[in-house]
Amino acid sequence: MLLILPLTFALYGHFFMKDIQALKDFLRSRKKIVITTHANPDADALGSSLGLHHFLQKLGHKVYTVVPTSYPDFLTWMPGNDQVKNYEEIQEEADKLVMNADLLFCLDFSGFGRIKKMKEVAQRTSAEVALVDHHLNPEINPTFNFWNDQAAATAELIYDLIAAYTGTQEITKEIAECLYAGIMTDTGSFKHSSTTSKVHRIVADLIDLGADVNKVSRSIYDTNSVGRLRFLGYALAEKLIVRDEYRVAYFVIDENDFRTFDLKQGDTEGLVNYALSITGIVIAAIIIERDSEVKMSFRSIGDYAVNKFAAEYFQGGGHKNASGGISDLPLAETERKLNELIEKNILNTQYQ
Ligand code: 5GP
Ligand code: MN
Repeated sequence: MLLILPLTFALYGHFFMKDIQALKDFLRSRKKIVITTHANPDADALGSSLGLHHFLQKLGHKVYTVVPTSYPDFLTWMPGNDQVKNYEEIQEEADKLVMNADLLFCLDFSGFGRIKKMKEVAQRTSAEVALVDHHLNPEINPTFNFWNDQAAATAELIYDLIAAYTGTQEITKEIAECLYAGIMTDTGSFKHSSTTSKVHRIVADLIDLGADVNKVSRSIYDTNSVGRLRFLGYALAEKLIVRDEYRVAYFVIDENDFRTFDLKQGDTEGLVNYALSITGIVIAAIIIERDSEVKMSFRSIGDYAVNKFAAEYFQGGGHKNASGGISDLPLAETERKLNELIEKNILNTQYQ
């Protein structure tokens, strides 16, 4: 026993084997399982959800994946996409599924605030809750806990979960591609400091298990519309504000820009990284006005912790180097507030 415990922990890293064992015991008989993830799902949210969906289905369970909102077209290629239910479209049916479920899997978020209108039913159901997530400060108290903020992606945790549950031989090409997509995007294509040697070992394994890396990366990154590319040029030329004395750069995108370039959901994704790529800039932000909501994204390098900043000033949170939030103020006032904080050096001194 003394030998086995450290060995299994070393193999499966993040997991407490007792939660795997408890989950296995619970799933011994066929169960109704709902998987959900955060609003505006990204590739990690959707990839980890669908990867787990295929795996649990293979084990013989009745599985439903319900997302709180729609997601961009560049994610619809994922195997199993046709089975994803959008809560916004089928609220009544989804409420029943969640209420009748034996188990609710919460993936890639750890506070019910991030599932928008689904929050109410998620808190009302008597289903057991399993949490698989890598965000800081989890608020959910699950029955089965697979939370670890050291993981680069929730998809990495799903890989670990499957490895510890059955062994990786159960990972099909479909599962491998879903998980690869989540890890590729959450590590910024293997560039962020979260890209450990373990991440590379996992993706090597996913490739051996059938993931077509070229297909996945082209499906996600090389499906631009002409409008999106022209918007990118316009945003870089006209919408980038550089406050180099404070080492901060940011974009402000308004509703009019969305109309002019016929932008779709997800078309502003990645823009903030251009601001962070400027030499000397350590913090980047983007303020986006859409559907009368003002959404913020923050990125930073090194020790600048934008999650704490987002939590304190913009009702948000996230990771140290990638966070987001929302603003109650109109666009222009939000920009003014951001500038006041920049000029007080709040971003780049207080949150180190
Ligand atoms: P993005 O800027 O790509 O929308 O989000 C980056 C990260 O910030 C996400 O992975 C998530 O952890 C966090 N995040 C984004 N928006 C919010 C928000 O409104 N609230 C919280 N708590 N976290 C957010
Ligand atoms: Mn993630």
